[in-house]
Amino acid sequence: MRCFELDGVHFGYGRQPLLQDIGLNLYPGRILGLFGHNGAGKTTTIKLILGLMRPDRGRIRVLGGMPGQPEIARRIGYLPENVVFYPQLTGREILRHFARLKGAHESQVRELLAQVGLTEAGDRRVKTYSKGMKQRLGLAQALLGQPELLMLDEPTVGLDPVATAELYRLLCRLREQGTGIVLCSHVLPGVEPYIDQAAILVDGRVWALGDLPSLREQARIPVRLTVRSRDGEALLNRLNGSVPRLSTLARDSHTIELDVRPQDKMAAIRSLMAAEPEDLQIHQPTLEDLYCHFTGSDRQGGA
Ligand code: ATP
Repeated sequence: MRCFELDGVHFGYGRQPLLQDIGLNLYPGRILGLFGHNGAGKTTTIKLILGLMRPDRGRIRVLGGMPGQPEIARRIGYLPENVVFYPQLTGREILRHFARLKGAHESQVRELLAQVGLTEAGDRRVKTYSKGMKQRLGLAQALLGQPELLMLDEPTVGLDPVATAELYRLLCRLREQGTGIVLCSHVLPGVEPYIDQAAILVDGRVWALGDLPSLREQARIPVRLTVRSRDGEALLNRLNGSVPRLSTLARDSHTIELDVRPQDKMAAIRSLMAAEPEDLQIHQPTLEDLYCHFTGSDRQGGA
């Protein structure tokens, strides 16, 4: 059973079309990164999966049922982009309230407070919490009831680097246990090591979808090779004609950068190794490079 399936989904607020022909799937034990510029429709897509709104056209199935059904909603965890809690209640009271709504066991409240590092602050009113503490409480709320589908909208906002690393460790553990996870984030280098698939929304459509190797293949962005040699000029002379390359830049007398097509990468590396360089670094296109490519930001000079 898939965590969700969206098939030919169209949605607009009023007459203005926003999402067009969206097709997306998530399987258990996978992390999907959902990316796009501000206003691309990421939060709207999540709200459709939650059943908070209905699509104008198309089909959505969630955990084998229909979005919004109470028994389905209980199996989903959601961290919204801006978490807001009633400020007069303590963190523990808030979690108890959500635990009752979700039918989660009361003992989970204590466990989750500990898991997100709020044991000591658990009995303080939320109005005294810092931004990061509110975000941690939001995460604990999303994890109540051991959700089979977890959707996190900008989960690292406000978290310090240690808490961010802990969050990703936790997500990896949940993935191993079979939870399907959707991560929306603008911090692309942060999420890159953890996602199994990326979906990039542009102009209301899923413009690119796949794991990073397949997106690299589709994008055909050059691979950059940085070579260090005792004698850069001799290395360049030796390479002339033997390595098909798109551009060459001599950074200094010892270091040369070559841009090669992805399909020429191995041939180029073999030629370079034959010249016995001191060092060779391979820079594959990152998620950020791929994002800029698919959204056209690399041509417009900004993300
Ligand atoms: P961000 O990265 O800024 O969080 P997003 O990709 O999550 O953006 P959405 O929040 O899904 O984007 O919004 C998509 C578009 O829909 C935006 O143009 C937004 O102004 C519009 N929109 C969102 N909610 C409503 C609403 N309740 N009524 C009308 N328009 C809305």
